[in-house]
Amino acid sequence: MKILKSLFIIAFVVTILVPFSHAEDQKVRWKLAMTWGPTLHPFVDTVESMANMVETMSGGNFVIRIDASNKHKSPFGVFDMVKLGQYDMAHTASYYWKGKDVAFLPLTTMPFGMTTPEQYAWFYEGGGMALMQEVYGQHGMLSYPGGNTGNQMGGWFRKEINSLEDLKGLKMRIPGFAGQVLANLGVTVTNIPPGELYTSLERGTIDALEWVGPGMDIKMGFHKIAPYYYTGWHEPATELQFLVNQKAYDKLPEKYKEILKVAMKTASYDMYIENYHMSSEAWSSIKEDYPNIKIKTFPEEVISAMVDSNDALVVQYKNENPMFKKIIESQEAYMKKSREWTYISDYLYLKSISDAKK
Ligand code: CA
Repeated sequence: MKILKSLFIIAFVVTILVPFSHAEDQKVRWKLAMTWGPTLHPFVDTVESMANMVETMSGGNFVIRIDASNKHKSPFGVFDMVKLGQYDMAHTASYYWKGKDVAFLPLTTMPFGMTTPEQYAWFYEGGGMALMQEVYGQHGMLSYPGGNTGNQMGGWFRKEINSLEDLKGLKMRIPGFAGQVLANLGVTVTNIPPGELYTSLERGTIDALEWVGPGMDIKMGFHKIAPYYYTGWHEPATELQFLVNQKAYDKLPEKYKEILKVAMKTASYDMYIENYHMSSEAWSSIKEDYPNIKIKTFPEEVISAMVDSNDALVVQYKNENPMFKKIIESQEAYMKKSREWTYISDYLYLKSISDAKK
């Protein structure tokens, strides 16, 4: 009787599961192109972690091959490669596409904009995801947050910046909107692929550059040639992105779509944590390990000019581009609410402790 009961249960389970196992068995092989080289941590780890999660959760059936920029040879070509279906996915940053459409810019970060928790809240709860989809949908792609660097440092400079005059003629690598903010203050702005940054600074092709924060910057060695390290203003919450070809996505079984989305979101949040950890670690020993690094904050007249230049550009782009206007106004409205909370919670918490210790 027991055996009969067991057989009945097995038959029942098989009957229930077999129809569902069909989709799980489908083999899918995707290719992903990164803007980054193979050793750029933690960006690369984010992509590998996402692909590993997808493979494991799909029982080894959905496999994503990762090509770094040394393989596909086109760090800033990944947008078009995914759009045209040469790759199914990419890992990159939205602000690299400002030449195609300035509406891409605020989907990464904006100077003097939201902090990382504020921006994640905007993406997932404040309407950001829908707006991002509106922009990328025009190019036959889906886009998802791809990991946040947290607040970035203002960059490495060969010479100290004491006044607005010191910015005139300065050659600096600084992408995105911030680059244009500085260009309007007399800086010669350029964007250079990550793999060529150190050499460009060493050879004097550029006088300054911004990269990320201490966790990632120290490994690049910039401090050896440009010892002035300025605090941030331009990338308070840089979100990387996953690009997905819409047609490839539509062909996925429903379960794989969900697996992919869960893996992208988890890997992205992991990167934020990893970057925070790396920068905390690097910062805790920066004074002892690298005594030649001089930590600086831009003078008030420089910051003030940056704010004015930023505000003027935002107004100009709002007038020129309705989608940019729509995104910025959504961010401004959200930040008005979230900043009040950030101020009364985190800011005053830190300030009260700092004041008590004085
Ligand atoms: Ca940066």
